[in-house]
Amino acid sequence: MRKKLIAGNWKMNNTPSQGAALIADIKETADKASCDVVVCTPYICLPAAVKAAEGSKIAVSAENMHFEDKGAFTGEISAEMLKEVGVTYTVIGHSERRQYFAETDETVNLKTVKALANDIIPIVCVGESLSQRENGVTFDFIAMQVKLALKNISAQDAEKVVIAYEPIWAIGTGKTATDEQANEVCAFIRKTVKELYGENTANTMRILYGGSMNAKNAAGLLAQSDIDGGLIGGASLKAPDFCTIINAATNA
Ligand code: PEP
Repeated sequence: MRKKLIAGNWKMNNTPSQGAALIADIKETADKASCDVVVCTPYICLPAAVKAAEGSKIAVSAENMHFEDKGAFTGEISAEMLKEVGVTYTVIGHSERRQYFAETDETVNLKTVKALANDIIPIVCVGESLSQRENGVTFDFIAMQVKLALKNISAQDAEKVVIAYEPIWAIGTGKTATDEQANEVCAFIRKTVKELYGENTANTMRILYGGSMNAKNAAGLLAQSDIDGGLIGGASLKAPDFCTIINAATNA
């Protein structure tokens, strides 16, 4: 039985004090929940978020990370830096980073490998564009993204990886994939992982859905057989909505 995971992706929202206040507002619900709860915050908010989450079940995640240990990479943050402030997860390859910051399948893989080597759980994002879906290449594209992200990763390490299926056309658009559409691709990702590593790894790996998940549609999505949680953008910024989603995961 896979434990569900609800992760809020704040993107470039919340100052450190605003973030700490948001965490204070979700703490009680998170502590009562049977799912894991993660907040993915801007780098500058991470120390305040870790402090605010102290003593609770909430884990803190970065939204990105560099794949090198150190060096001349102005503006970047390493796994070691994240670890020292108490970060235990990081998002890797969010479509916004692929689109606006030249993230590639190769850098996604390097970052995934580096996160695992530092005991940071990677939440690796994959997802097709609207034109890829309309042209019938969704499954080919997703298989490629998953296989490239997991290159050079052992079965033992792959079990720790979280994959978030986030169709680009559903992110921040208010246009959610139907329960069936989302589950179909999540099940396909699990099948792809099974081909790579076998049944145990496939059955252990957590696969999330992301893309306009909200307080109203979360229960339906989270009830699907292959959806092990959600990566939530907009709705994670409002404590009551995020708490409703956490409760939906507990009741799924
Ligand atoms: C996201 O940021 O990963 C996301 C899914 O955003 P939203 O929920 O706002 O679509």
